[in-house]
Amino acid sequence: MRILVTGGAGFIGSHLIDRLIAGGHDILCLDNFYTGHKGNILKWLDHPSFEMIRHDITEPIRLEVDQIYHLACPASPVHYQYNPVKTVKTNVMGTLNMLGLAKRVKARFLLASTSEVYGDPEIHPQSEEYWGNVNPIGIRSCYDEGKRIAETLTFDYYRQNKVDVRVARIFNTYGPRMLENDGRVVSNFVVQALRGIPLTVYGEGLQTRSFCYVSDLVDGLIRLMNNEYVGPVNLGNPDEYTILELAKAVQDLVNPDAQIKFEPLPSDDPRRRRPDITRAKTWLNWEPSIPLQQGLKLTIEDFRERVAPRNS
Ligand code: NAD
Ligand code: UDP
Ligand code: UDP
Repeated sequence: MRILVTGGAGFIGSHLIDRLIAGGHDILCLDNFYTGHKGNILKWLDHPSFEMIRHDITEPIRLEVDQIYHLACPASPVHYQYNPVKTVKTNVMGTLNMLGLAKRVKARFLLASTSEVYGDPEIHPQSEEYWGNVNPIGIRSCYDEGKRIAETLTFDYYRQNKVDVRVARIFNTYGPRMLENDGRVVSNFVVQALRGIPLTVYGEGLQTRSFCYVSDLVDGLIRLMNNEYVGPVNLGNPDEYTILELAKAVQDLVNPDAQIKFEPLPSDDPRRRRPDITRAKTWLNWEPSIPLQQGLKLTIEDFRERVAPRNS
C-alpha cells in the first residue's frame, strides 16, 4: 500500500514510519519541519520505499495514496503556543486539505486527535462518550479547540462525503526521539536529571497523567487504521501517576540526588487524566504492554546519547 504520513518527521510519526516500512509499505512522509527533524527519518532517505515531501499542510497538495495517517501538528504546549494562530490553521485548514485529498483519491484517513479534547475533565477516567470541559479562549485552546474542530471536520467528511475515516484520541506519549527542548514533562525531567539540574515540578505536582510508551501507541494506531471501527478511540496507558511520582521515578533511574524545584502551574493545566480504554480493548484487541519503568529506561538511554552533563 502507498501510505501518506503527515508529520512523519516528528516524534510519533517517525516511529510509525519505521513500523510501516518494516511491514513492506511505500511511505510518503510529508512535513514542514516545524518541530520535526530530518534526523528522525535519516535512515530511510535513500530507501526505495520512502519519499520525503517538504510541504506545509495549510496549503493544498495533490498526491495519490491508499491511506493517510494525519499527524501533522505541534504537540507540546511550548511549540503549539509559540504561534497559536498557526496551530489553529494547521488543525483547521491542514485537516481540511488532507480530508479533501482523502475524498478525491478515496483513501482511508486516520486523524491523530488528543485527550486534550476532554480539557480539564470532570469525569474520571475519561471515556469517549465524555464531551469534555474545554476553555474556548485560553492559552491551550488553539490546540484543544483546534483538535475538536479537526474531529468535527473528520466526522462531517464521513457523513457528508462518505470518506472512510478513523479517529484516535492519543493520551500522553513518550519515548526515544522526543525533543530535548520540547517542554513536555518526561523529556524535561529526563534532561534535567541527566544534566544534574533540579527537576521542575509545576504546581504541587499532584496533577496526574497516564504515560504511554511510543511503540505501544504506534501499534494502536496501526490496528485502528486496519480495523472496521471508526472511533473515536482512546489510545493511552491507563496507569496513572502524579507528576511528583514521575519525578521520583526519573530520580531513581538517573540520579537519586537530583533536586526538585517547584514552579507555578500554567493556566488551564488539566488536573487529572487517565484513559478508559474499553473501546480499544473491545474493538482493536489493544492494550499497552510497556510499563512506565521499562519505557523510561529506554527513553533515558536515548537521551543519554544526546544530552551531556552540564559540567562535562
Ligand atoms: P511532533 O511535534 O514531534 O510532530 C508533529 C510533526 O508535524 C512535526 O514533524 C512537525 O514538523 C509537523 N508539522 C507541524 N505543523 C505542520 C504543518 N503545518 N505542515 C506540515 N507538517 C507540520 O509531535 P508528536 O508528539 O509526534 O505528535 C504527533 C501527533 O500526535 C500530533 O497531531 C499530536 O497532536 C498528536 N498527539 C500527540 C501526543 C503526545 O503525547 N505526543 C498526545 C496526543 C496527541
Ligand atoms: N485538496 C487538496 N488535495 C486534493 C484535494 C483537495 O489539498 O487532492 C484541498 C482542496 O484544495 C480544498 C480542501 O482540500 O481546499 C477540501 O477539498 P474538497 O474537495 O472537500 O472541497 P472544495 O475544494 O470543494 O472546497
Ligand atoms: N509539567 C511539570 N514540569 C515540567 C513540564 C510539565 O510539572 O517541566 C507538568 C505540566 O504542568 C502538566 C504535566 O506535567 O501538568 C504534563 O505536561 P506536558 O506538557 O508533558 O503534557 P500535557 O499538559 O499536554 O498533558
